[in-house]
Amino acid sequence: MSCRVGCGACCIAPSITSSIPGMPAGKPAGVRCINLDDDNLCRLFGDPKRPAVCLRFDHDPELCGDSREEALTILARWEKETG
Ligand code: SF4
Ligand code: SF4
Repeated sequence: MSCRVGCGACCIAPSITSSIPGMPAGKPAGVRCINLDDDNLCRLFGDPKRPAVCLRFDHDPELCGDSREEALTILARWEKETG
């Protein structure tokens, strides 16, 4: 299993508390990361400026579900439980 290209759910649903290029205070849950492009791909992929926190989102069937919509739902719930 690998990350669904064009999903980007883990760049939207969870909050990020560390600084992100373009979002120095991080981002609240449910807000699109400014670096997520219109195709839901990270503009910083492979760039050393990509925050370390983004690497924690490795593809995980339990979080990613079977579709982008499912991932958004699961991650929003996970955010509420752990946030
Ligand atoms: S939620 Fe999963 S499938 Fe979607 S972008 Fe993140 S790691 Fe990839
Ligand atoms: S920097 Fe890239 S990987 Fe990290 S949340 Fe933003 S779009 Fe996603």
